Amino acid sequence: MELITKAPKGTQDVLPGQSEKWQAIEKVLREEAALYGFSEVRTPVFEHTELFQRSVGETTDVVQKEMYTFQDKGGRSITLRPEGTAGAVRAFLEHGLFSAAMPQKLWYETSCYRYEKMQKGRLREFHQFGVEMFGAADPFADAEVISIASSIFQRLGVKNLKLEINSIGCPTCRAAYTQALKEYFGQYHDELCDTCRERLEKNPMRLLDCKVPRCHEIGEGAPSILDYLDDDCKAHFEAVKAALDSLGIAYTVNDRIVRGLDYYTRTVFEFTTEDLGSQATVCGGGRYDGLVAEMGGQPTPALGFGMGLERLLLLMEAQGIAFPPARPCDLYIGSIGEAARRKAFALAGAMRQSGVAATFDEVGRGVKAQMKYADKIGARFSMVLGDDELAAGKAQIKNMQTGEKHEIVLDETFAKQFAAIDSSLLS
Ligand code: ATP
Ligand code: MG
Repeated sequence: MELITKAPKGTQDVLPGQSEKWQAIEKVLREEAALYGFSEVRTPVFEHTELFQRSVGETTDVVQKEMYTFQDKGGRSITLRPEGTAGAVRAFLEHGLFSAAMPQKLWYETSCYRYEKMQKGRLREFHQFGVEMFGAADPFADAEVISIASSIFQRLGVKNLKLEINSIGCPTCRAAYTQALKEYFGQYHDELCDTCRERLEKNPMRLLDCKVPRCHEIGEGAPSILDYLDDDCKAHFEAVKAALDSLGIAYTVNDRIVRGLDYYTRTVFEFTTEDLGSQATVCGGGRYDGLVAEMGGQPTPALGFGMGLERLLLLMEAQGIAFPPARPCDLYIGSIGEAARRKAFALAGAMRQSGVAATFDEVGRGVKAQMKYADKIGARFSMVLGDDELAAGKAQIKNMQTGEKHEIVLDETFAKQFAAIDSSLLS
């Protein structure tokens, strides 16, 4: 029975009470994306496994340990998307968005799937809001993308977030750096975890974001990428910082940030908090100038970020941030008898067409129980129709909060009269 009545580990239902909070956050995300000139892209929940292997990278935790991969009935290897960028880049290439005006600016809100050890703020199905900008190599683009996340947090009222930035250079600077890391970590070969020993050969930079405590500790003494940046990458990083300064966005440089995915180049950044325990990163992103070409397109500079929405919501709750209340029922239309109920049903329909959230007695119960229900759902006004009201063509509208009553005529001006009663109370 448990398999039927318990959702799979690492998933979460969003119930009424909670879904309104999601909607409030989503509204801000959409509005901010539009203000910055980004358009929404929706891509499939599953893609060919190769897409993620190629873009996220074979040596990453995501690809090595966390993907939901299976064979479909046609024998293809399919993977549930573990993040949003790969699908967006695939769509960008598949539909020739590169021939439209550059930069192309896309946003998405998607569910993501990673087989992880479940913890607070760490789920197997979670949601990301992300933006991607294609065709902009300039440092102002980096600062702009960071500023989108920053203004989202600001508008939502989120506090105690720290922006950490780093540059991980381009493949040229990384060649020397990788060599230095190999030499450094090589000295600790026997103390590293199995995965890191493998990474040492294939992709030493990945060692810097290993979560095994001893690997992490060793990583603290590793050489800094910032000492290996070539002149162009150095200048780019300086310009990003200057642009952030000009916007008044505070940041700290943290040369240990390498990001968990392989495709990043130059600028990488994270927004972290101490209010969420060990699941500290709420938003992470950066530049991935090599990815589009890596996936078979023309070389196209690009950048973006992914924001974990469950973590964002947890953080807002932890900080006691108020959410707008759910839309209440404006008018509950109770009824006594079948004729009145038919009238209430029709009236409710007409009211909704005028933008009023109206409810009638959907279950056919006594008037006392109807009023109790109206109270429970927090109806702002109520009204009861019976044979007398139908005969007189009039009824009483009751303000559920004050108990105050207003007469209302049951004719085609009903909605107008209701609006007048409603707004007189609002002012
Ligand atoms: P972490 O270091 O916490 O594992 P990550 O580096 O794997 O994060 P990204 O791949 O950069 O994370 O994903 C972007 C954002 O998505 C993260 O900053 C986080 O807010 C969120 N996120 C990632 N994995 C999960 C998860 N399993 N559950 C909930 N949110 C997640
Ligand atoms: Mg992770």
